[in-house]
Amino acid sequence: MNRARKTGILGGTFDPVHLGHLRAAEEAAEALGLDELVFIPSATPPHRPNAPRASAEDRLEMARLAVAGRPGFSVSGLEVARGGASYSVETLAALEQERPGEERWFLVGTDAFLDIHAWRDWARLFSLAHFAVMTRPGPDPELAGLGAVERYMKDRLAKAKIFVPAKDEGWTHVETGRRLVFTPIRSLDISATLVRSLLAENRSVRYLVPDAVLDYIEHRKLYGKSPGSRERQKGIHPD
Ligand code: ATP
Repeated sequence: MNRARKTGILGGTFDPVHLGHLRAAEEAAEALGLDELVFIPSATPPHRPNAPRASAEDRLEMARLAVAGRPGFSVSGLEVARGGASYSVETLAALEQERPGEERWFLVGTDAFLDIHAWRDWARLFSLAHFAVMTRPGPDPELAGLGAVERYMKDRLAKAKIFVPAKDEGWTHVETGRRLVFTPIRSLDISATLVRSLLAENRSVRYLVPDAVLDYIEHRKLYGKSPGSRERQKGIHPD
């Protein structure tokens, strides 16, 4: 019997996409045995105090450039085409309509996951996909690891009888039997915030973002770079 196609979804602002995203995606795809991993840039992220710096179209294009040539990785313009605030619950419901029968995994970093109760229709989210919570390095080692996630599961989601501990590893969604697993990844301590702030100071972001994304940022003059920075990024110092 054919098994269901296993698809991962990585949503985000991707302002811009960076190697931290790609490495996390690579490791999660390997750990979960995904057939395909779809990056979905948001139109307007609902939970952020500031609007993204780059337009939705630029963020979408950078994501496309970042995954070009990696079989199995793709980018969906679903949220950008829908416009307005991008709610994951709507995206997952739309994907279920568009691509029924897939075994869908929603990938999310620990930082984003610990905030999930603030997302629209958050309890319903868990009935629409399996979840893989990925470790994410950062200034707070507690938040970067899975200890905080384990506590969150016990104190919030298990107490509310949304999840129960799974027989093997992770958790089982009570209503649907869908799974939530922790996926530790040796990921990179890179954030889009870091990339934007380096660019704002005309400093190099080479090897933090894919080369094609760097070229696009320079070509489109994104993130407040001033003229002359191109030479500086290349290590060439103009007179
Ligand atoms: P910003 O710095 O602007 O907040 P970001 O780098 O966190 O951006 P997002 O687009 O918000 O990037 O992230 C999308 C998803 O990717 C989130 O689930 C986030 O946790 C995850 N993620 C981002 N960077 C990393 C990283 N370096 N390692 C692991 N996961 C990451």
